[in-house]
Amino acid sequence: MFVAVVCLSLVAIDGWRSLNARAELLGASERNTSNLARAMAQHADDTITAADTCLADIVERIESDAAATVRASAPAMERLHRLMVAQVNRLPQLNGLFVYDEAGNWVVNSRPVMNLAYNNADREYFVFHRTHTDAGPHIGVPVVSRSTGKWVLPVSRRLNRPDGGFAGVALATIDFDYFTAFYQSLDIGKHGAVALLHNEGMMLVRRPFDENRIGSSIVNTPIYRQFQSTSRTGTGFFRSTQDGELRLNSYRALERYPLFVTAALSRDEVLEGWRRDTMLHSCGVLLLAVLLALFGKRLIQQIEMRLEAEKELLKARDALESLNRSLEKLALQDGLTGLANRRQFDVTLGSEFSRATRAGTELAFIMIDVDSFKQFNDLYGHSAGDDCLRTISKAIRTQTPKRPGDLAARYGGEEIGILLPLTDLAGAQAVAERVRKAIFELRIPHAGSAFGVVTISAGVAAVRPQRGVDEPGALIEAADQALYAAKAAGRNRVHSAPAARAA
Ligand code: GH3
Ligand code: MG
Ligand code: MG
Repeated sequence: MFVAVVCLSLVAIDGWRSLNARAELLGASERNTSNLARAMAQHADDTITAADTCLADIVERIESDAAATVRASAPAMERLHRLMVAQVNRLPQLNGLFVYDEAGNWVVNSRPVMNLAYNNADREYFVFHRTHTDAGPHIGVPVVSRSTGKWVLPVSRRLNRPDGGFAGVALATIDFDYFTAFYQSLDIGKHGAVALLHNEGMMLVRRPFDENRIGSSIVNTPIYRQFQSTSRTGTGFFRSTQDGELRLNSYRALERYPLFVTAALSRDEVLEGWRRDTMLHSCGVLLLAVLLALFGKRLIQQIEMRLEAEKELLKARDALESLNRSLEKLALQDGLTGLANRRQFDVTLGSEFSRATRAGTELAFIMIDVDSFKQFNDLYGHSAGDDCLRTISKAIRTQTPKRPGDLAARYGGEEIGILLPLTDLAGAQAVAERVRKAIFELRIPHAGSAFGVVTISAGVAAVRPQRGVDEPGALIEAADQALYAAKAAGRNRVHSAPAARAA
């Protein structure tokens, strides 16, 4: 769970960061296109205003001329011609300045050598001014100049006679090159686009430049529809009807003229760096997440293995402990008879003797020896002898009182010792007699015995040990002596050691 949560968090955080970066990038691009549109609108406004100022000046001169007709005196014409040439030289955007009479004939213009053979009565702006009495400037349909053969944007004003009648047209033509040069200088990437358009839905200048599109209608483009339906500025994503490119567009209307501009950056181009960055990031994060997941899995496996090993270890320890216990038991037990072995006997004798010494109590010992056992073996075999010993041991176990501290042990080959703490000589004698009888009653056949069955002889001794005087060895010795006496007296009997030291 922990590893999964960490991995998911890593991916989520990176995804969130990436989306944020994208939104920020698009926001910055929107500001960029918006600023660009503002600059372009200002540029177009200033360009046309400068040309229009010249026109207004010319119109004022002609209309205030004493003759009050377009065809003034030759010197006046000459002055006007010189002024026009100077103006065109001064303003780089000006392609030319022209004056036509009421019939559309060329009257004066900015050409150094004036060819006045043409008639422009067919031009849109001429028709417009003849039918409109507006004094303001008129932005016409783009045309190819009759004098220079270049694409130009006509800006014109009407000339009035003193009585207000139509006297002709003053025209300034603005070089498209002036706009295209400016638009080419803008950094809009490889797939960006900028354009100058007429409010009535006509394309004027555009980058990328396409001569066929000059003057074409843009009425059916989504951006034009939005321009018309909303305020004079705006931003939005539009797919180009020309090249299919999806662009972030900003549009803005000119302040003084019925024109607007658009500035657009390709969305793919804007997001290109971000896409590459995101791709790289995603790969890195994914790799990190996978590594983390693998590492986490490995770690968990290790922990599980360790827990398993610990469990195994505990099991092994328990097994070892139980084995130890049984080994301990085996080490203190006699294998054949199941009685205590000599080692346990020696240890118990030592501790009971000390206890009796400290407490001042009596301690008795019975030494038992099977009668004529060598012969039994000879007659019935060693294996039968072992069986006989086992049976006798069992009988001894059932006959000895079950007091804590009592101990029946195999002392030697077919000799069994019984240690009886807190027991006096008489008590021990009674126990020995009970054992002797019980074994006799077993009636294990023994052809080599004078009794016909297996019998035992026992020697009994008891002592109330005194510190520094009595020793365990003496007690055993005394019992052994008594046993010897029992054997000598004819076997199958119990003898007691003389109670010399019995208190
Ligand atoms: P007695 O004690 O009556 O004087 O005669 P005995 O023949 O029993 O003499 P002793 O006690 O010296 O005999 C010891 C014999 O006990 C020697 C051996 O043949 C036999 N014996 C000792 N330990 C074992 C044993 O573990 N298994 C068998 N089958 N026989 C044993
Ligand atoms: Mg013996
Ligand atoms: Mg014997």
